[in-house]
Amino acid sequence: MEIMLCAISNIASGGCSEDCQYCTQSSFVKTQIPKYKRKDIKQIVFEAKLARKNQALGFCLVTAGAGLDDDKLEYVCKAVYEVKKEEPDLLLIACNGLASVEQLKELKKAGVFSYNHNLETSKEFFPQICTTHTWQSRFETNLNAKEAGLMLCCGGIYGMGESEEDRVSFRKSLQELKPFSSPINFFISNENLRLKVPKLNADEALSIIRESKKALSDTRIMIAGGREWVLGERQYEVFEAGAEAIVVGDYLTTKGEEPSKDIEKLRSMGFSFASECH
Ligand code: SF4
Repeated sequence: MEIMLCAISNIASGGCSEDCQYCTQSSFVKTQIPKYKRKDIKQIVFEAKLARKNQALGFCLVTAGAGLDDDKLEYVCKAVYEVKKEEPDLLLIACNGLASVEQLKELKKAGVFSYNHNLETSKEFFPQICTTHTWQSRFETNLNAKEAGLMLCCGGIYGMGESEEDRVSFRKSLQELKPFSSPINFFISNENLRLKVPKLNADEALSIIRESKKALSDTRIMIAGGREWVLGERQYEVFEAGAEAIVVGDYLTTKGEEPSKDIEKLRSMGFSFASECH
């Protein structure tokens, strides 16, 4: 079986004005995460080359913050352009918060393949985890990305205290958007976050993947943050459950598995890695 690997670069980290309760980049939370307004573009290109070496096909440029302004848009476009010049085969994903159709068209022009903007959870549960922007504004950004001609990467986070009804409702909303890929994150607790919920267990996490694939049969289900935390030794069972992609390397603010360990293990299990998008 062929699977797709993606890597993430956090190109603008921390100091976010929003109060998403699951996120250590919010300025409402006191954490020791690295904070910077702009990562050097040479460093981004270096990380992109490393991602390609680690068999990644997707490379996601993520900025903290509610959305894009002119400066940030220009910076992301420049980073995209420079990465594309050096690594033309990488599929670039931009993840820059709320965005208008015009802004998203600019990203597309610069070489972005897909836009990632997660709904995170159901519209009913969202107000309990964020009060500074609406779920609807997230949904609209996804519609904007489609209108701009970008592929859509839209998913969310499980294990934040949402009910089973919330999970069903969340997947129904994803069905409406029909994303090309859908990242599943599992909430990672942190002593500095206000959100205090029990950790998901591995069986529950695998069942979430199965239900997601059932609901989104034409979508590539990608397992992102929390894979190691929630699934531990059982993390490679995600493919049996319906996943076709994983994030390799580090996440935005948490450490991931060593890519070489993932690659070796996946090869030994008979997986090959997508080098182009079908
Ligand atoms: S908008 Fe993004 S970066 Fe800001 S707090 Fe929410 S999830 Fe974190």
